Amino acid sequence: MASITLEGLKKSYDGKIQAVKGIDLEVADGEFIVLVGPSGCGKSTLLRMVAGLETISQGELRIGERRVNDLEPAERDIAMVFQNYALYPHMTVFDNLAYGLKNRGFKRHDIERRVADTARMLEIETFLTRKPRQLSGGQRQRVAMGRALVREPAAFLLDEPLSNLDAKLRVQMRVEIKQLQRRLKTTSLYVTHDQLEAMTLGDRLVVLNQGQIEQVGTPMEIYTRP
Ligand code: ADP
Ligand code: ADP
Repeated sequence: MASITLEGLKKSYDGKIQAVKGIDLEVADGEFIVLVGPSGCGKSTLLRMVAGLETISQGELRIGERRVNDLEPAERDIAMVFQNYALYPHMTVFDNLAYGLKNRGFKRHDIERRVADTARMLEIETFLTRKPRQLSGGQRQRVAMGRALVREPAAFLLDEPLSNLDAKLRVQMRVEIKQLQRRLKTTSLYVTHDQLEAMTLGDRLVVLNQGQIEQVGTPMEIYTRP
């Protein structure tokens, strides 16, 4: 794992809309930071800049010691989890998990070992030969997380990964993510508008408002402040 450092990070769309207005933030190695704030405050834009899915207008972005501003998403050693599962429907669970590793030229026995480890960790070993449509929502969400974990990236980005799940599953997955976090000590930047998720998962919370950081603190500090 590695730290993520944002220095004076800015984004303007079409040179006009200032979506992100100068963010300074360090996600420490192994830290889980949750980004919260009202709709339109710039959460997704910020995450997408870190992922490399959006260009950075100004500022510096580092993963560990490495400046990554100009690197392609695949070169950043970061994995992203989205709310829409992003699974390949025509592939089995095994192939969904193996896909990114195959693309990166991993050897077959390394792929098999990593997929097996990840599947065991997420308790999806018995579904490896199924297609996504043969899975429940929660199982699919685990496979989506597995796709990120199997790469053993330096950091994770999660954009409202639980927001499409029903309430029961959301609670269950929240607990599972917390347990994974305790075990793996992943460096993570997690976007949500769910206060309970933020409080349960975050080592620290970052409250964004109109593209700027309004508050940073532990869940206790943020939610007990007058
Ligand atoms: P959040 O994730 O907190 O809801 P976003 O990052 O999606 O916020 O949006 C921040 C601001 O940037 C909003 O004003 C939004 O309308 C604007 N915005 C987001 N994406 C684009 C885009 N592709 N083109 C133009 N404006 C955008
Ligand atoms: P992989 O090689 O495993 O596909 P990537 O870094 O290309 O790794 O993508 C990681 C995950 O994010 C994959 O599940 C991919 O489908 C998904 N993904 C990448 N870009 C987007 C995007 N713009 N919108 C939705 N999902 C995306």
